[in-house]
Amino acid sequence: MTVREPVVVRAPAKINIHLGVGPLRGDGFHALHTVYLAVSLFDTVAVRPGEGLSLTLSGEGAGTTTGPGQVPGGPTNLVWRAAELLADHAGVRPDAAMDVVKRIPVAAGLAGGSADAAATLVALDALWGTRAARADLLALAAQLGSDVPFSLTGGVALGTGRGEQVSPVLAGGRWHWVLGIAGEGLSTPAVYAELDRLRATGRVPDGTEPTSAEPVLAALRGGAAGELARSLANDLQPAALSLRPDLRRALRAAEAAGAVAAVVSGSGPTVAALAGDEEGAVRLAAELAGVGVFRSVRAVTGPVPGARVVS
Ligand code: ATP
Repeated sequence: MTVREPVVVRAPAKINIHLGVGPLRGDGFHALHTVYLAVSLFDTVAVRPGEGLSLTLSGEGAGTTTGPGQVPGGPTNLVWRAAELLADHAGVRPDAAMDVVKRIPVAAGLAGGSADAAATLVALDALWGTRAARADLLALAAQLGSDVPFSLTGGVALGTGRGEQVSPVLAGGRWHWVLGIAGEGLSTPAVYAELDRLRATGRVPDGTEPTSAEPVLAALRGGAAGELARSLANDLQPAALSLRPDLRRALRAAEAAGAVAAVVSGSGPTVAALAGDEEGAVRLAAELAGVGVFRSVRAVTGPVPGARVVS
């Protein structure tokens, strides 16, 4: 009997280097104007032939059973849902043994679940030989979650709609970041709800004019870290800080440790600290690991490609 090698796909974490949040739409989502950057922190999904679907999870956070960091092990996991969706689309039986190794911290604003979903679509498309058109994979990805299409494409992209409509952005460089991972995760819906609350009380602008992405797009074309630093923006940051006031200290710690700028990534609580260059990132990571405000610290670069077969 021949044992088929697994198909292994890795998919990157993202940070939002710009997150303009518009008004709440009728469907419960906010209109977004965001700039995604894929960074070199990857989850991997390995798939093998199986009878029905099965899923194992390992790595950081995979065993968490409570709070917003909980990762379901069964049919509600995004990996499982991606498998069912692709099988349904392609008219094949959903048969596969799926193993996920999570290195992207959970509920951290880094789109780890979305990375896993995108990786699963690519892996099972290869395992099952379904040869889905790229446009179809992107449409399936959008059904799974707002960040999933970007996890497929990677690189740098502008996200509109609820973030699921992605178009590539020209970037004239590669940037070095340090991710400061806070102790406990934050629920994305809770952070958006807090933004709505703050907007209703007039404590932050109401969202009819979300922060423009133009400065960050110009900085990306130019490539200089200093210019990018001046243009980072996240309309969700006040809401994340309101729910987790300790993040203020984390942002200050990043700047004091030599970051050219620091911003909350997406809905948080991860802090993305931009370094001037690679050496600066190594120094910044060492410094931040020592200040005791983060659970863990990772030096990463971006842009990197989206979900890709690695074996
Ligand atoms: P978002 O993509 O909404 O910004 P996030 O990046 O902050 O979210 P994720 O790590 O993607 O956070 O997890 C958010 C929630 O998604 C988890 O709390 C978990 O309940 C659910 N989830 C489902 N499948 C997965 C998966 N494969 N990995 C991680 N979380 C998953």
